[in-house]
Amino acid sequence: MNFIEERIVKDGIIKSGNVLKVDSFLNHQMDINLMEEIGREFKRRFSDVCVSKVMTIEASGIGIAAFVAKEFGVPLVFAKKSKSINVDGEMFVAEVESFTHKNKNQVIVSKKFLHEGEHILIIDDFLANGCALQGLISIAESAGAKVEGCGIVIEKGFQIGGRVIRNMGYRVESLAIIDAMDAEAGTIDFRAQD
Ligand code: 5GP
Repeated sequence: MNFIEERIVKDGIIKSGNVLKVDSFLNHQMDINLMEEIGREFKRRFSDVCVSKVMTIEASGIGIAAFVAKEFGVPLVFAKKSKSINVDGEMFVAEVESFTHKNKNQVIVSKKFLHEGEHILIIDDFLANGCALQGLISIAESAGAKVEGCGIVIEKGFQIGGRVIRNMGYRVESLAIIDAMDAEAGTIDFRAQD
C-alpha cells in the first residue's frame, strides 16, 4: 500500500451512498505533512510535462492543489461556485453537478487568470462521476489552454468518472484507486498500481 492507501485504511470512514469520508486528514482538518507528500508525489508523476498553472475547484481541492502548485513553482487558480445565472462576459463558465450535494452549480474562472497557450494541471481530492473534472477541462479549453493531465488523490474506480475522462484522451493519475468499498464490513479494495 502507498502512503495515501495506508492513511485511508487508518482514518477513512465509509458511508452509505458510496461516500468515503476523509475529513480528519484531507478535506476538513488537513494533515499538512501529508499535503506536502501529495504535492511531491504529483510533481514526481507529472515531472515529464510542462505545467504553467495548477487548477482546481473550490472548496476541498484548494488546499491540496496549493501544495502541488508550490512544488511546480506556478500559480494556482480555482473555479468558484456561483449560484448566479448572470455571470458577465469576463468569466469562463461551466455547469457542474455536485456528487456530494446532488445540486448543480455554475463554476466560474475569471478570464484574467486563464489564457491561451497555458499548460494546465488539474488537481482534485476525489474522482467519482467525473463532473467536476469535465467542468474544469471545459473551462481550461474554452480559454485555449492545454490540459496536460489530471491529478486525483482518491479515485473511486467503481464509478464512471475515471473511464470517461481517460476515454476523452486525458491523462489521469490517481494516488489511490478504490475498486470496491463496503460500508457494513468496513472493507476497501484498492486497485494495484505500479
Ligand atoms: P465527481 O464530479 O467526479 O462526481 O465528484 C468529484 C467531487 O465530488 C470532488 O470534488 C469531491 O469533492 C466530491 N466527492 C466525490 N466523491 C466523494 C467521496 O466519496 N467523499 C468525499 N468526501 N467527496 C467526494
